[in-house]
Amino acid sequence: MKRILVTGGAGFIGSHLSDRLLKEGNDVICLDNFFTGSKNNIRHLIGNNKFELVRHDVIQEYFAEVDQIYNLACPASPVHYQYNPIKTIKTSVMGTINMLGLAKRCKATILQASTSEVYGDPKIHPQIESYWGNVNPIGIRSCYDEGKRCAETLMFDYHRQNNVKVRVARIFNTYGPNMAINDGRVVSNFIVQALKNEPITVYGEGNQTRAFCYVDDLVNGLIKLMNNENNFIGPVNLGNPQEFKIIDFAKLIIKLTNSKSEIIYKPLPSDDPIQREPDISLAKKELNWEPKTDIKDGLMKTITYFKKILD
Ligand code: NAD
Ligand code: UDP
Repeated sequence: MKRILVTGGAGFIGSHLSDRLLKEGNDVICLDNFFTGSKNNIRHLIGNNKFELVRHDVIQEYFAEVDQIYNLACPASPVHYQYNPIKTIKTSVMGTINMLGLAKRCKATILQASTSEVYGDPKIHPQIESYWGNVNPIGIRSCYDEGKRCAETLMFDYHRQNNVKVRVARIFNTYGPNMAINDGRVVSNFIVQALKNEPITVYGEGNQTRAFCYVDDLVNGLIKLMNNENNFIGPVNLGNPQEFKIIDFAKLIIKLTNSKSEIIYKPLPSDDPIQREPDISLAKKELNWEPKTDIKDGLMKTITYFKKILD
């Protein structure tokens, strides 16, 4: 049993992670400023004496005694992280410094939720951890991409300079229940549009690709990375290598929801990466991890979740 801090714990991934950590018998402090997270995601945990909910912003210092920190606080959807880009980069940079300071004082292990966005619009495919990326430093996605790159730098500098025990996970597109209905990312947009029989909004011609990992698989990977006995730090890709063109993904959602929606095309946002697929050889080797959930099963669970929310 450990005392574990989950920042961003009321968000999509953080809420699933908090559930799992509690089920495994740990004490969990869920810290969140509720920018994109929701109390609904963790309502069932309130009253559990092993669970503590703290409204706090990671750009301010936070003090507690903990054994492990999962630093997930940061809006993840382009719509939300571009709403206040200065706040987004502050969250990744100042938030990570604060959490690293906490880890240093407590001698806790800290895991940073990094992202496939550190590869930008990648020039090699699939993406491997040794690739340094192709990121626009001044574009509309930079507040997120560069913030996460800086957070990785901070993790490695605190490790080298202060011996802080760190872990870096590069998370690829993840989906599942507890995504916000207004999240703006492709999985929630397409499912909600399809369930309402509204037009499915494909950006560009839909030839760009993404690979989607079900949240339970991702949470397994995060926990394995945090607790691996070889002190493997990463960075390590965590994602599902099954790659889809966005247009084909739209058709799959229409089929799985039995929807009458038509597909419409909207302009492709600037700097939208053309292709993305994780090479997960390193995660297989170091963590004995790979995703297990079939895309159709994962999507059906997500569709059921959104149906309930819409009702
Ligand atoms: P999310 O938006 O659902 O969750 C983020 C949570 O962080 C929310 O609860 C939000 O309120 C909270 N938060 C934001 N800024 C904060 C601040 N300054 N202080 C305290 N709390 C704050 O997103 P998610 O999909 O659950 O992503 C979780 C983490 O995983 C993020 O760091 C994200 O960058 C990373 N990630 C996610 C994906 C994905 O596909 N879901 C992919 C790559 C990386
Ligand atoms: N996308 C789309 N329609 C939408 C939302 C997103 O076609 O309603 C596209 C988007 O342009 C991108 C892909 O789907 O190419 C994934 O977008 P998302 O915002 O989910 O994540 P990210 O771009 O950060 O991978």
